[in-house]
Amino acid sequence: MPDLTLDTILAAALEGPGPVVPPIVQTSLFTYPDYAAFEARMTGCDSAPIYTRVGNPTVAAFEALMAQAEEGAAAVGFASGMAAISGTVLAFVRPGDRIACVEHVYPDAYRFFEQMLRPWGVEITYHPVAAFAEDPEVLRGARLAYLESPTSVMFQTVDLARVAERARAQGVLTVIDNSWATPVVQQPLGLGIDVVLHSASKYISGHSDTVAGVVVARAELIAQIRALTLPLLGAKLAPFEAFLLTRGLRTLAVRMRAHEATAGLFVDRLAGVKGVRAVHAPGANTVPGLTGRSGLLSVEFDGSVDIPRLCDGLRIFRLGVSWGGFESLCYPARAGLAAGPTANAAHRFGVPSGLVRLSLGLEGAEDLWADFTQAVSAARG
Ligand SMILES: *Cc1c(COP(=O)(O)O)cnc(C)c1O
Repeated sequence: MPDLTLDTILAAALEGPGPVVPPIVQTSLFTYPDYAAFEARMTGCDSAPIYTRVGNPTVAAFEALMAQAEEGAAAVGFASGMAAISGTVLAFVRPGDRIACVEHVYPDAYRFFEQMLRPWGVEITYHPVAAFAEDPEVLRGARLAYLESPTSVMFQTVDLARVAERARAQGVLTVIDNSWATPVVQQPLGLGIDVVLHSASKYISGHSDTVAGVVVARAELIAQIRALTLPLLGAKLAPFEAFLLTRGLRTLAVRMRAHEATAGLFVDRLAGVKGVRAVHAPGANTVPGLTGRSGLLSVEFDGSVDIPRLCDGLRIFRLGVSWGGFESLCYPARAGLAAGPTANAAHRFGVPSGLVRLSLGLEGAEDLWADFTQAVSAARG
């Protein structure tokens, strides 16, 4: 069935008659009727499930829906977004290779590169995200381009189709963390990017009750991950988490539109708030291929607003890491900077101490705006 909208792909029960929700197959192993069937499985002649570390029907149902959503040939689930990141990079990078990475990359991805891959002989260089489309030196000789667009915290963007075209010409594998956008507002594979990965803990789950990750790409790339890092590092997605993620995907498109509407209200009004120096909130057509906005943005205040007081004055917004759930969250960059400069990308690439990141949830937009502005007023002067 070609040309279905993403809303239909996510919400329709296309599998046919039977349970409308894939059952949770909570088993570690699968058995075989006879020797011939067992040998066929062991020699790869048959793809029936064998052991839940390498495959499970509940996980496969999520992977199939996720592949469709990102318009990729195949997908593989992981136990976390970080497992998806490490499982992808380690499947394609060897000692002596170089990774060209965006500045303002997710902090634990930065620590993985610096504290684990660099000592193993992998070179990592960091570049402003715009440079991937403009500076030919960024990709020259690199094995892998590790992208976020928008980037973490600062939400800088790049024209992904241009990056993909340059990378392809130079034989560089492109990987993007698409957690911020989700396939609802950006489908990087269609723009020519090779591999899309997600922290499914964020919008894909949508309910702040799951830690998980997923990777989508063409079949041979997913096959390489399934042959190497999925079974051998073993950070598989569990059946119950996969069940929750499929459930999350059913409402992803409607949730994203609600997040976007609230974010739009904040972006329209924030420029008029005293003490606001800048708003980092890319949206539809900030760059080609980005068709909308999520609920995650950051606001930079000047020195007239006391950030700890702002945080303490919030009543609906909670303080916390992560994002993408039903609940609104505030993350003050100051708190992360206070943790010290050891392997901290925020120090290295410069995040302003007056910046707060907001994850706008599914509460009433006017309630959130009233809460935020009363806290800002109380924190000023
Ligand atoms: C949270 C996050 C991750 C890590 O995901 P986990 O599921 O927490 O391991 C990766 N990338 C981005 C952009 C994130 O925000």
